[in-house]
Amino acid sequence: MRILLTNDDGINAPGLKVLEEIARQFSDDIWVCAPSEEQSGAGHSLTLTRPVRLHKHGPRRFAVSGTPTDSVMMALREVMPEAPDIILSGVNRGANLADDITYSGTVSAAIEGALAGVRSIAFSQVYAREGMGDEVPFGAASAWGAKVLEKLIDAPMADRTLINVNFPAILADDVKGIRVVRQGFHDYARGTIVEGRDPRGYRYFWFGLDQIEHTLDHGTDLEAIEEGYVAVTPLQLDLTHYSTIGILAERFA
Ligand code: MN
Repeated sequence: MRILLTNDDGINAPGLKVLEEIARQFSDDIWVCAPSEEQSGAGHSLTLTRPVRLHKHGPRRFAVSGTPTDSVMMALREVMPEAPDIILSGVNRGANLADDITYSGTVSAAIEGALAGVRSIAFSQVYAREGMGDEVPFGAASAWGAKVLEKLIDAPMADRTLINVNFPAILADDVKGIRVVRQGFHDYARGTIVEGRDPRGYRYFWFGLDQIEHTLDHGTDLEAIEEGYVAVTPLQLDLTHYSTIGILAERFA
């Protein structure tokens, strides 16, 4: 089985190493193609206004000077002689739950894979405390990743769907199990914006992600994580809201 790995935290991200260890339990044919720099929050963006460079870091290991989507495209079109059987994205440093999904470079890399018709799974490790940066513990992902992947590797999946997996911010031994749940929603408040001045005196703003509140809803990814479970959520790329089609069509009739 040929596996492509990517990670929106960049080619040197600790979570990519964790994902590689998980993937190696299933195959030796592992390819890595990831952004050279961190691209968290890049969503499903594609680099169009500047050239993208491809750097070989080793056998089957490449960095792309672009977004996670660029990396997956590059892997599928330029790097890999044959298409992968599966694309794994992550393990992201931090949650990709609820409405994080469309901001997420991690999930978007899997979206790109699903668009290309390849089975794609996004993995994210939730962490409890803000400001941990490189110190995010990946213990739950390390211990539970293969258990999750084992079930998903040949699970039936419809076209243009992907799977979003989040590991809870607790010790691996405390994880209660795996739940298949729907996507939840945060209360709308996109974290904090920190204002400051740069060394030359110009004002800047910096987006933070702390203090995002949510009202727990039964059967959601947010609830599963809160209760100490690995959250597995199948996602679809068709964003159409079907019941509104008729309502709007009537208006325009
Ligand atoms: Mn990230």
